[in-house]
Amino acid sequence: MSREQQAVARARKAFETGRSKPLEHRIRQLKSLQRLFSERQKEILDAIKKDLNKSEVGTQLYETVGLEGEINTAIRNLKKWAAPRPVGKNLLTLSDTVYIKPEPLGVVLIIGAWNYPWAVTIQPLIGAIAAGNAAVVKPSEVCVHTAKVMEDLLPVYIDKELYPVVTGGVSETQELLRQRFDHIFYTGNSMVGKLIMEAAAKNLTPVTLELGGKSPCYIDKNCDISLACRRVAWGKYTNCGQTCIAPDYILCEPSIQDRVIEEVKKSIKDFYTDNPKTCPDYGRIINQRHHKRIMDMLDGSAVAVGGDNDESDCYIAPTVLRDVKPEAKVMQEEIFGPLLPVVSVSGLDEAIKFINKREKPLALYVFTSDDKVIQRMVDETSSGGLLANDCLVHYSVNSLPFGGVGNSGMGCYHGKFTFDQLSHLRSCLIKKLNMEGANSMRYPPHTAKKLGWVRFFLLKNLDLAWMGRLALLAALAVVAAVVLQKYLL
Ligand code: NAD
Repeated sequence: MSREQQAVARARKAFETGRSKPLEHRIRQLKSLQRLFSERQKEILDAIKKDLNKSEVGTQLYETVGLEGEINTAIRNLKKWAAPRPVGKNLLTLSDTVYIKPEPLGVVLIIGAWNYPWAVTIQPLIGAIAAGNAAVVKPSEVCVHTAKVMEDLLPVYIDKELYPVVTGGVSETQELLRQRFDHIFYTGNSMVGKLIMEAAAKNLTPVTLELGGKSPCYIDKNCDISLACRRVAWGKYTNCGQTCIAPDYILCEPSIQDRVIEEVKKSIKDFYTDNPKTCPDYGRIINQRHHKRIMDMLDGSAVAVGGDNDESDCYIAPTVLRDVKPEAKVMQEEIFGPLLPVVSVSGLDEAIKFINKREKPLALYVFTSDDKVIQRMVDETSSGGLLANDCLVHYSVNSLPFGGVGNSGMGCYHGKFTFDQLSHLRSCLIKKLNMEGANSMRYPPHTAKKLGWVRFFLLKNLDLAWMGRLALLAALAVVAAVVLQKYLL
C-alpha cells in the first residue's frame, strides 16, 4: 500500500467509526485548530517568509486573521447550520414533516495551492470539519516550507486519523486522485483543474474547483482616477501579483491612460518606496520557474513603470505596461505576477465586449462614479464575483459565496457556503401511517377524476402560509365565541 493509499484508508476507517459527526467533536477540533494559529504563529510566519517573503503583518492580514474569523463563524453557527431546515410543503404533504438535513459526505480530498497556502488549504478544511467529514489534506509542494509546517503541526492539533496530511508533488497528488473520495476540493490552475475533474469522474466524485484566470479591471474616465489607481495598485501588487483575484489588466480609454499610469506609479512609490526590492512589504515570486514564466510575458509589450528584476532573488519590480494589444503575450494567460498591462478601449461598450469575448473571470472590477456604468457591468457580463470601486475585499465577506464560473471554477465556499458545499443536503419527508384516504388519488386505477384532484392539490398556487394564518384566525374565533358564550352571555 502506498503512503497515499494508507492515509486515505486511515481517514475512511476513522470516518466509519462515526466520531467526526457529533457537533461537540467538530467544535473541539475547530477550537484546536484555532489554538494552532495562536500558539504556533511564529512557525507559520517564518515559513511563509521563506516561501514568499511575506511580512509578518502581511501574512496575518491576508491569511491567518481571516482563518481565525472563519473558525469563529463556524463555531458560533454550527448548531444552526447542522440543524434540520424545515421547508415549504404542498397540499399533498401538508400533514407530513418535510425538511433538509445536512449530512457529512464522507472523506474529502483537499488539494491546496501555494500563493496563500494557509488560506486556500485550511479554509476548506474548516468547512470539512464543521460538516462532519474526514479530510485528506494535500498542501502545495511549491511552498516548500509551509507544506512542511502543515505536515508537522496539523497532526499535533487535530485528529490525525480523521484529517491526515499528505505532502508531495504531482505524482503523489496523482496517486491520491486514483483513490476514491466523496468530494474533491481543488484550488489551483484551470489546466490541472481539468485533470482533477477527469480523475473524479471515474468514481462520480463531486468536485469544487477554485481556479483562476484573467480578472479584468475597467476604469471609467468618470471617476476619481487617483483613488481608483491606489486601490488597483494595492490589489495588483499584494503578494507580488500572485493572488487569484488580483486585477489582471486595466481597460480604459486612451485619453486617461497616461494619468492611470502616473497614478499607479505614485501608489507603488507610496506603498513600496523608491526601491521595492528592499521594502519589507513587497514579496517575491514563488520560484525561478515562475519568475521566468512571468518575465517571458513581457515580450513585445512596452514597459511604462518598473520592469527590473533579479532572478536569483525571485524579484520582479511592480510593473505597468502601456498600449498593450489584445494579441500581446501578456494578454494570453493569467499573469499571476506583478505586471499590469493597460489595454485601450473606446469606452464601456467596448470594455463589455472585450470581457464577454473571453473566459468568464473569477473577479471583475469596475471603477466609476456613475451608477449606470456599474449597473451595466452587473447586467451585461458574468464572473465569479464583481466589485465596484475596490479590489479583493469581497474575499473577506463570508456571507458572500466565493468561487468562479465557467473557466474560473465551479462550486463556492466561505462561511456557511463551505459547510453546505461539503455537506449532502438530504431531503427528508416523514409521513405517518394514517390518513390513507388522502393517497387514493395516486393509486390505480387511474381516472380523470383522480387526475383532477391531483391537479388541484399540486398546481393550484394556494398560499399555505396564508391558509395557516386563516386557520389560526378561525380557531381563535371559535375559542372567543365559546368564552363569550360561557362567561358573558
Ligand atoms: P500549484 O502548482 O501549487 O498546484 C496546485 C495543486 O495541484 C498542488 O497541490 C499540486 O500538487 C497539484 N498538481 C499540480 N499539477 C498536477 C497534476 N498534473 N496532476 C495532479 N495534481 C497536480 O498551484 P498553481 O496551479 O500554480 O496555483 C496557481 C493558480 O491557482 C492560479 O491560476 C490561481 O489563480 C489559482 N488560485 C485560485 C484560487 C481560488 O480561490 N480560486 C486561490 C489561489 C490560487
